[in-house]
Amino acid sequence: TAKGMGRGVVESFSLAMRQDIQRRTAIEQALRQPGTVNDVELAFQPIFHLETLELRAFEALARWKHSELGWISPAEFIPITEQLNVIEQLTETLLGKAAEVALQWPASIRLSFNLSPVELCTDGYAARVLRIIREAGLSPQRLQVEVTETALFSDFKTARKNLAQLSQAGARIALDDFGAGYSSINYLREINFDTVKLDGSLVSSVHSAHSGLPLLRGVLALCKAMGQQCIAEHIETEAQLMLLRQLGCRYGQGFGMAEPVSAERSKEIAQSKIIALEDFATALRAS
Ligand code: C2E
Ligand code: MG
Ligand code: MG
Ligand code: MG
Repeated sequence: TAKGMGRGVVESFSLAMRQDIQRRTAIEQALRQPGTVNDVELAFQPIFHLETLELRAFEALARWKHSELGWISPAEFIPITEQLNVIEQLTETLLGKAAEVALQWPASIRLSFNLSPVELCTDGYAARVLRIIREAGLSPQRLQVEVTETALFSDFKTARKNLAQLSQAGARIALDDFGAGYSSINYLREINFDTVKLDGSLVSSVHSAHSGLPLLRGVLALCKAMGQQCIAEHIETEAQLMLLRQLGCRYGQGFGMAEPVSAERSKEIAQSKIIALEDFATALRAS
């Protein structure tokens, strides 16, 4: 009966909610343990110049395996570390480790690091970031920081100040996930971004949604007019790569080009760019 079905829906809904809460509690408990943040590892995803397919940078991506829950996405656990106030410790560890890995790449290859939205709106954050990489021995010139527009919401003035300070020190500032969320044009005016990262949704809709192509073309033109470089995210197919090239998007990354790799592997790829191209060719043949 309809009544019975209704109850079933309510029951499975509350079961799902209970599971969510249990999961969340387990993650919080683990992250509260001193030392857990040291278990968080890094993977490095290659970023290529699309015309020449040369390796230009690696984006550092946090990787954490919970003892019972298995691998947990940084999109899920980073916000929890922010709420628990352990993000500061996590950044200290991850950025330090990432900088040490970057030192083993040729100097022409940049490290791109995602900044925590909560930290970006904290006074003194830029100084901390600069101290961490300098202590590791990495020049700020080799750093690119990635920020999402939501990171600018809670305290715009402080965020802008931090970004200006990083920029003055020689780091590049990238707007991450542009095309997702509100994609407010005002931020492009208010903050001097060097680079705009085109959200995966813009890239993947190009061969499906009918407005995908004009939108992508328009966003690329906008970035060009603003003097910003573009990095396309989530390039998964050869067709997407060819189209992005044709449209003049200079840089890109994605599973179709290279998946995030271990620190060890990043060194091999960085030293002999050929390996990355082989990976790329294999990935293309498989797709
Ligand atoms: P993001 O900065 O936009 O990172 C790109 C995400 O897309 C990564 O997910 C990456 O694994 C994934 N990706 C790369 N290529 C493809 C593709 O071709 N297709 C698809 N579908 N996905 C692709 P990941 O590693 O799960 O990270 C999720 C988000 O967590 C990141 O989004 C970033 O905002 C945040 N994050 C990751 N590492 C850190 C970190 O160390 N610190 C901070 N504060 N945030 C981080
Ligand atoms: Mg990013
Ligand atoms: Mg992104
Ligand atoms: Mg993204």
